[in-house]
Amino acid sequence: MIIKRARVYGMCFGVRDAIALAGQVAAQSGPVTVLGQLVHNPDVLQSLREQGVDVAENINTVRVEPGTHYVITAHGISDAQREVWSQTGATLHDTTCPLVQKAHHRLREFVAMGLHPVVIGKAGHVEVLGLTGDYREATVIETESDIAKLPPERGLGVVSQTTQPIERVRDLVLCIRLLRPTQALFFADTVCQPTKDRQNALRELCAEVEAVIVVGGRESNNTRQLVLAAQSYGVRAYSVEGPHDLHAEWLINVARVGLTAGTSTPDAVIDAVEQALMQLSAHTRLAA
Ligand code: SF4
Repeated sequence: MIIKRARVYGMCFGVRDAIALAGQVAAQSGPVTVLGQLVHNPDVLQSLREQGVDVAENINTVRVEPGTHYVITAHGISDAQREVWSQTGATLHDTTCPLVQKAHHRLREFVAMGLHPVVIGKAGHVEVLGLTGDYREATVIETESDIAKLPPERGLGVVSQTTQPIERVRDLVLCIRLLRPTQALFFADTVCQPTKDRQNALRELCAEVEAVIVVGGRESNNTRQLVLAAQSYGVRAYSVEGPHDLHAEWLINVARVGLTAGTSTPDAVIDAVEQALMQLSAHTRLAA
């Protein structure tokens, strides 16, 4: 069995920089707490803990204490939330990815133009909550059925969650235009370039393999999107967090398997999955 990696895959600069900064803060200032899921991988989380970085996964229940250091994740937060946490007297270290900041900036511009704020993305995802958190009236569009929630007359200012598939975003924008032909619509493509690069590389990979393994966290949106995209290209696609999630039966009658990974997956985990695939391939051959 041939194992082929995607041309572009794995951890993006935004997540890499955020992990590095959390470690630096812990080394310089002592224990630090990350407000939310900085990264989904258990090995990375363990390594961060060993460096003195704790992760408070549920930001709604965490108590932000004065005189303590906290990290805002690459997903970003609303200005209102930043203000609340700033008022506590805690020290905030903001690792919001510049490409998430760009989405905030474009949405802010649209609102300043008097447009109704719209975010194409997954309702409840932390990045989407951050984008919409300053605009109580904002509408999140996840599927075509959400278009009915848009106000009937105001012009619309539309951005997207950075990790959405760009084709899906464009389709939804087209749907809005068709269903609301008289309403002004301004659209800013805020899907980030690393996400687009991974999606394009996956499309190329799927033309060459029968099955794809996507390495990434179960909670990771871009990992889920890579699996869905691979399935839409007609190949079998499986999501694993690490080598222990692989199943030999996935590889039966597979001559070429593709390997890719979400934007918060470290290289070491991808290497471990590749090694395990090689071993499974050898066993499958022996058993045949
Ligand atoms: S996925 Fe894109 S927007 Fe999100 S952290 Fe990575 S580079 Fe930044």
